[in-house]
Amino acid sequence: MKKHPANYPGRILTGNYSSSLMERTLSVIHTSEAIDTGSFPLMHYISAWDAREQTIWYEFVGQQFVDLLQTSNRNISNDFRKGILDQRLYHYTEVNQEVEEEIISRNQLSDKRFDLRESVSKKKAVDAVYQVLLPSEKIIWLKDQGRVEHFPEDNISLTLGILTDVTKEMEQKELLERIGYFDDLTGLPQRKIMARLLEVKTGERQRGYLGEFSLLMIDIDHFKAVNDTHGHQAGDFVLKEMASLMIAIKRKEEDIGRYGGEEFYGICLGKLQSGTEYAERIRRSVQGHTFTYNRTDIPITISVGVASSEEMVQIDTDELLALADKRLYQAKHQGRNRVVGS
Ligand code: GH3
Ligand code: MG
Ligand code: MG
Repeated sequence: MKKHPANYPGRILTGNYSSSLMERTLSVIHTSEAIDTGSFPLMHYISAWDAREQTIWYEFVGQQFVDLLQTSNRNISNDFRKGILDQRLYHYTEVNQEVEEEIISRNQLSDKRFDLRESVSKKKAVDAVYQVLLPSEKIIWLKDQGRVEHFPEDNISLTLGILTDVTKEMEQKELLERIGYFDDLTGLPQRKIMARLLEVKTGERQRGYLGEFSLLMIDIDHFKAVNDTHGHQAGDFVLKEMASLMIAIKRKEEDIGRYGGEEFYGICLGKLQSGTEYAERIRRSVQGHTFTYNRTDIPITISVGVASSEEMVQIDTDELLALADKRLYQAKHQGRNRVVGS
């Protein structure tokens, strides 16, 4: 009935399926073939999933993808599967309103393959990154993004997908993960990174390469009560939201990181005055922000202690931290939701 292209690896065009599925398949194959003649930096594919038989196969594979795996249209499915070392899936969660990354190792993959298929069918989308060992022994990362079309009459789902090489991006991300640069919960630089930054600034200041700079110690007010009243997950949500807020309002030359628990620290250039202004900007935006978790608004304020290198004859990281900390406690004693900078 339908004319299938040369080297056709699929089943739909030669099988016994509804005309709507066959026509749709032929039309997307034709489009894909047209794209394939151009040198776009992408590899595309059309895969089909039979929910009843629980089988999956390709209806179309872009030539770049075939060449990359040094294989053929017909063997690519197997060869690709064999080459996958690790897979990361991206889920958007409604509750936390953020993207979560799920890492699945090679050993878990075969157990989870059926679950993965089901979840792709349900969400009508593919969003994943694979680490792939190529026949050339080179390891690359491929990002897979696709949309799913359902054909209930045939029990078939088609995935129209694109693979792009994201090796450079993932290597950078892996390096940062390996050295533990970012805090898992908030995505802010960890305490040890901020401590290192502070040391570098202290050294530069001492040798006269850098002007004055200020340190902020930030602590959420009555945070224990947030956990007690709304639950630990709500507390985590507040920490994450605070982090996004502080990243959004910080200027390029300002830094923000997580000190631990519900405490953060900020570093900025300039004298105590600049530090206090930075702190006040954060305090105001936290006070003005509505933290809504599970449709409940949670009132949040912060207290900040600020100390600056200008206050010290011989600048010392520990002393600077101690001074900022002392002022933070003064801010708490004076009634919270305030900045103390002298
Ligand atoms: P204050 O205004 O004096 O700072 O009061 P506080 O309740 O904020 O201070 P306290 O030090 O008594 O409590 C801090 C709380 O922060 C206790 C701890 O359970 C909570 N906390 C620390 N880290 C996390 C976290 O990662 N997630 C959540 N949800 N809570 C955390
Ligand atoms: Mg605290
Ligand atoms: Mg607190």
